Amino acid sequence: MSKSTHSELDIAVLPGDGIGREVMAANLEVLNAIQHLVGGPRLHFTKYNAGAQYYAESGDALPGPVLGACRKADAILFGAMGWPDIRYPDGTEIIPQLDLRMALELYAGVRPIRWFSGLPKILADKRAEKIDFVLVREQTEGLFYARGRGRLVGDDEVYDEMQVTRKGTARITEFAFRLAATRKARGHEGRVTCVDKANVFSSMAFFRKVFDEVAARHPDLAPDHAYVDALALTMVKKPWTLDVLVTENMFGDILSDLAAGLIGGMGMAPSADVGDQHGLFQPAHGTAPDIAGQGKANPCAMFLSGAMMLDWLADRHQIPQLETGARLIERAIEHVLSQRIAVPMEYGGKAGSAEMTRAVLDALPLVVAEVA
Ligand code: ATP
Repeated sequence: MSKSTHSELDIAVLPGDGIGREVMAANLEVLNAIQHLVGGPRLHFTKYNAGAQYYAESGDALPGPVLGACRKADAILFGAMGWPDIRYPDGTEIIPQLDLRMALELYAGVRPIRWFSGLPKILADKRAEKIDFVLVREQTEGLFYARGRGRLVGDDEVYDEMQVTRKGTARITEFAFRLAATRKARGHEGRVTCVDKANVFSSMAFFRKVFDEVAARHPDLAPDHAYVDALALTMVKKPWTLDVLVTENMFGDILSDLAAGLIGGMGMAPSADVGDQHGLFQPAHGTAPDIAGQGKANPCAMFLSGAMMLDWLADRHQIPQLETGARLIERAIEHVLSQRIAVPMEYGGKAGSAEMTRAVLDALPLVVAEVA
């Protein structure tokens, strides 16, 4: 439901740490350019401090007022947070994105992976050009439920507990089937694969049982099952056969990096953290301490996450201009990469963040005719 008038949408912007700050600055340039090109409601961006660096300065990684602003906003744009040297007193890393997922019930981690011309060909098989699937990761329970709850027994044993609930599994599965239906309308197979380890763990057998119950309510779509180890193999051997995958939190965490590797690395992998009330859009990558501050980051994953935000807002508030904006961003990136106007350093090219951003900004007006 809309929280703002359609003349303006409030976007909370959390650049965070490391390359999160760099790619976010570039992203706001692109989104401002999009607004000039497509019109529609004004996107009003408000930046907030949060993350590891902010924790080092203030003792608070995600201040209450920032969480409150995220709750009120129409959408949240998130760069990346965390830094190896900055930790809580117990040694754990600063990961406010996990707190946001819990607090705002952002239960669906949506990770689309699509190859297009200009991306590196990681797999030799020609069919890898057809890679186009979406990984849907449950992200409010699963093994991440154990975060902050690990039980140490002396100095000899430790237990991390996994939580799988009917409510959590049913809603993520429903989400995956709805997504598959939308994709089917665009020519995809309409298949949802439940990725689990139901042959070993009761929690995973339960996940599969609830998946099957939900699947029965979607007779037009094809339910499918895979054990996570077999799915990892499929993802490398024939990822072009995948459509929509739905999985537990930890499995999703691991598989999403493997999936990003299929299209050349983290710099091209966007993501959306979506719940029933809120949406947060961030690149799948982290703060990349190894390249932070050097202008080397590929900002395209952030741009594509911005496009996912526009799609989500367009759908939620029925604003077609925003959907056009999303297509423009995608087309501009495809244009830049396929024409080799700029090749990201991540792929062995010479273009750092500034060059990639300039190239995408310059391409936007050129692709308007294709998208309109
Ligand atoms: P996290 O634990 O938050 O995922 P991480 O340090 O494990 O963080 P990333 O920050 O995603 O993982 O970095 C993994 C690798 O990918 C690093 O070598 C990093 O330089 C590279 N990388 C990540 N994002 C980008 C990007 N946008 N452009 C270029 N290289 C990137």
